[in-house]
Amino acid sequence: MQTHGVVRILSFCYGHRIRGHEGGCAHLHGHNARVEVECRGPLDALGMVVDFGEIRRVLETWIDASWDHRMILERGDPIAHVLAERGEPVHLLDAPPTAENLARRLFEVAAAAGLPVTAIRFWETERSMAIYEAS
Ligand SMILES: [Zn+2]
Repeated sequence: MQTHGVVRILSFCYGHRIRGHEGGCAHLHGHNARVEVECRGPLDALGMVVDFGEIRRVLETWIDASWDHRMILERGDPIAHVLAERGEPVHLLDAPPTAENLARRLFEVAAAAGLPVTAIRFWETERSMAIYEAS
């Protein structure tokens, strides 16, 4: 069966660390993320799966308010309150802030907003990407 799909690309900057990681990811560091938001479904009266601008409006607004230029840390990370006390913007996740979990969170935000999202491809670096998709 054939379906139509669209992909909108978003980008933002963030910092994180992965507690318990045995390499450099255990330390605070940052990434320039590139996110591919894939939506699939039937075409509307205008011939669109979903307006590219609607994907941007929903997710870019959320990312700007929640993650852009912030430290994304796991709830319970002891550095979080130190940064917050110093006025640094911190966003807490209920899971380790890996590319995998960030992809999942964006998928949930997109789906909750009613976008026909089928996959989030989260590029943490130019060579490393995590996928969260509808099964
Ligand atoms: Zn990292």
